[in-house]
Amino acid sequence: MEKVDLLITNGWIITNDGGKSFVGDVAVKDGKIFKVGEGLRDSLEAEKNIDANGKIVAPAFANMHTHAAMNLFRGLGADLPLMDWLTKVIWPLEREFVSPEFVRDGVELAILEMIKGGTTFYLDMYFFEEATAEVVKKAGIRAGLGFGILDFPTKVASCPEEYLKRARDFVFHFKGDTEIIPVVAPHAVYTCSPQTLTKAMELAEEFNVPYHIHLAESQGELAQVKEKYNTTPIRHMKNLDLLRDRVIGAHMVWLDEEEREWVAQSGIKVAHCPESNLKLGSGIAPVSDYVKRGIKVGLGTDGSASNDNLNMLEEMATMVKLQKGITLDPTALSASQALEIATVNGFESVGIKAGRIKEGYDAEIIIVDAQKPHLQPLYDPVAQLVYSAQAGDIQTVISRGKILMENGKVLTLDEEEIYEKANFWRKKILAKLNG
Ligand SMILES: [Zn+2]
Repeated sequence: MEKVDLLITNGWIITNDGGKSFVGDVAVKDGKIFKVGEGLRDSLEAEKNIDANGKIVAPAFANMHTHAAMNLFRGLGADLPLMDWLTKVIWPLEREFVSPEFVRDGVELAILEMIKGGTTFYLDMYFFEEATAEVVKKAGIRAGLGFGILDFPTKVASCPEEYLKRARDFVFHFKGDTEIIPVVAPHAVYTCSPQTLTKAMELAEEFNVPYHIHLAESQGELAQVKEKYNTTPIRHMKNLDLLRDRVIGAHMVWLDEEEREWVAQSGIKVAHCPESNLKLGSGIAPVSDYVKRGIKVGLGTDGSASNDNLNMLEEMATMVKLQKGITLDPTALSASQALEIATVNGFESVGIKAGRIKEGYDAEIIIVDAQKPHLQPLYDPVAQLVYSAQAGDIQTVISRGKILMENGKVLTLDEEEIYEKANFWRKKILAKLNG
């Protein structure tokens, strides 16, 4: 009998590859999906077997926009608009607290939440990403990490040149890494000068890495860009010759007809963050229209401080219902399209072959317990995963064939210790806020 590393048997397999879901088996070998089908136990012998009877076996999620360390700010400034939330709450707290230790502890909490929610890749923009990278590796997931670039001074750098230097050092260090995809991450067109945006693109081109930026997020941003440059964020990017296919634009809420066409033609990817956009009152990105135009849309939660969680199942359900609601068309976006957006589209945007339960794809897999009142009876696993499942239903999470969580227990991180550290930071931050 041929040997494999892992055999998952008798689950409802969601291939996420056009075909119907069916009850069957998935074999994993050397980190990749080796075979998908029925009765695989007859011909394969596995190091480890998982009985998925009554469970859904689906691809894991790729969260395409986060600021993971900001998990430690969750719940602060809850009902403020974006610009007030940034300038009055987040930026002052970041000036005070952000350090490699803060980032490490915040990211551990974030990755614990992500693994429990079935996410095995995330795209992040923040500071001290070297500290983040260590946690990512320890947790056993993968991440695209970008050292945030700004024009104004913070604790991490005093001028654009210094940010760019730190970003360059980061990209140089992690280029070719197996867990970390380095990205160049200028914060936004309203916080970076044309020169900074251009230099950041030169850096991304030099190392052939993605360029991740907040783009056309809110009316406030549109007003600022109009006042400064007398144009829109996308036109500003176009004028600077920055509409290139390596761009992964977070949000992309406010695009007119012409801008959508440019985005489609240039191959820019969208990191859609519906719950953050709703919570900050930024708007609703017309992603069903983007999908029709052939734009590659991925799904992100944004930081926990503006969502306020990293739950991709919830994000997916919010996204798909919003599109039906704003278009007045229940067919505007389907459950299977939503699942593609939350999985394979994200992975592919950064060049990872994952997001389908298909031979040759990286084994990024979740196993979901369907013996739950809100999942019974199970007629349509895809629709029910998207519309009915909850993060707590996810029992087992696998990344590149390695089990990161089994029956609800995360194996790579110390849950109790993470909560203790969260409480340590809570006390420090509260002491500061209370003067
Ligand atoms: Zn963001």
